[in-house]
Amino acid sequence: MADCIFCKIVKGEIPCKKSEETEHFLAFHDIKPQAPAHILIIPKQHIARISELQNCHISLMGEMLLLAATIARQQGFEQDGYRLVLNCGENAGQEVFHIHLHLLAGRKFAWPPG
Ligand code: AMP
Ligand code: ZN
Repeated sequence: MADCIFCKIVKGEIPCKKSEETEHFLAFHDIKPQAPAHILIIPKQHIARISELQNCHISLMGEMLLLAATIARQQGFEQDGYRLVLNCGENAGQEVFHIHLHLLAGRKFAWPPG
């Protein structure tokens, strides 16, 4: 997608503070962190939102969760815990329409979320 900011990050056209990169995913630090650690995990493939997922994406989404757990373990978040967030659509506050999994850690999170 030519005008997608996260596709531009994947292509290296916009800089990011990279955390991890795999064949199918890029993980980088959120530009406006909402916790001491706030990493975004995005598929390199452009998918606008969770509600557009199809059967062909099942293994990709499994890979995304596994990568989140791996990064959390490597970064030492496992013992205290962490939060994973997927915002979908307007009411959830989705701002960037390229699927991204928020990995937040380093503080206690409230429930229900705001
Ligand atoms: P969401 O509200 O779920 O769509 O979250 C989008 C996230 O992307 C927000 O937390 C933004 O701070 C973050 N974001 C937007 N642009 C950038 C960027 N260029 N680099 C890193 N994070 C970004
Ligand atoms: Zn995109």
